[in-house]
Amino acid sequence: MLDTFAKETLALLQAKGLYRTLVTRHKTGEVTFEEGDKAYISFSCNDYFGLSQHPLVKKAAQEAIHYYGVGAGASRLVTGNHPFYIILEKQLAALKKTEAACVFGSGYLTHIGVIPVLVGSNDLVVADKYIHASMLDGVKLSGAKLTRFRHNDTAHCVHLLKKYRKHYRHCLILTEETFSMDGDRAPLEELLDLALSYEAWCMVDGAHSLDQEVPGHTHPSHYIAMGTLSKVMGGYGGYISASAEVVEMVRNKARTLLFSTALPPAVVAANSRALALLGEPSYGHMLSRPLANARYFTQLLSLPPAQSAIVPLILKEEKKVMEAAAYLLEKGFLVAAIRPPTVPLHTSRLRFSFSAHHSKEQIEALAKAVSAIR
Ligand SMILES: *Cc1c(COP(=O)(O)O)cnc(C)c1O
Repeated sequence: MLDTFAKETLALLQAKGLYRTLVTRHKTGEVTFEEGDKAYISFSCNDYFGLSQHPLVKKAAQEAIHYYGVGAGASRLVTGNHPFYIILEKQLAALKKTEAACVFGSGYLTHIGVIPVLVGSNDLVVADKYIHASMLDGVKLSGAKLTRFRHNDTAHCVHLLKKYRKHYRHCLILTEETFSMDGDRAPLEELLDLALSYEAWCMVDGAHSLDQEVPGHTHPSHYIAMGTLSKVMGGYGGYISASAEVVEMVRNKARTLLFSTALPPAVVAANSRALALLGEPSYGHMLSRPLANARYFTQLLSLPPAQSAIVPLILKEEKKVMEAAAYLLEKGFLVAAIRPPTVPLHTSRLRFSFSAHHSKEQIEALAKAVSAIR
């Protein structure tokens, strides 16, 4: 019975062109991969600065393993709160100009842990149509009423706030700073102002933010910044930065913090080292490179100028996207084929992400290969 159910489910996915397979391959450098005896240039990693490969980041992890072993052994609330966390959370609070920060096991765990702490069944969530699945899952767990505005459409957001806000106790607006599948940016200042006028809070998923800056000089108290340590930082983990009170409430109540083992000390140490590196003046010249590389690519193909390191090329149908990705793979480029349910139906796409380490020649070769399939 169970096997029949699984077989039927898989057959259905296959028929829709939505079957997914895990391919075994590994990183060999900042933008290079190996699969069997084949080598590829990757345009599908979120490790925008190649920090997962940086010698100093690796060294921090190696030293931590040497002294502290590989696993944390318990949740942070039990015995897993290694002193490295204190350092990392201080760095993250400083980065977002907040009083405090709280680190979780992953970005996903951050969302499904924090959102149910902020809102419950008497509350309202007003969310951008394109927010990440992990935020949506957090909302589902919270039991709050969910209503969604058209992507980046603040007028529609106002409409929903006018219609629903008064019927609920608390209200949380959710968006992404840089949208993970479209590469465009949210109108953050407008949304923060709206949140103020409707007595709402605003939580912003900054998983793909390259300039980790918060609008304004200080952190508005109704703003909860969420980020990941698994992308720009090249390591693993997630966090929120907010006021001391909000962070203390989250530490007390977030179930994914209470009931899940802390990150291995080496991961926390690596995250900390990566974050410190990003802030060093000698590293400053790297910070603008992912966006500059994405812009070079969009310019070569006469696409709208990239707004972030992420560039989508929408080919609509699943099969077409799979064929395009296979063609690029044959040419030596690893590019993500993104299909539903990650993106809406009929918007399947190639998703290119650019690293600070891509060379001009690599981008030109990619553009040439892509122009053959457009
Ligand atoms: C990757 C991602 C997450 C989840 O972060 P993980 O650390 O990978 O769990 C959340 N939101 C967005 C927009 C993401 O791209």
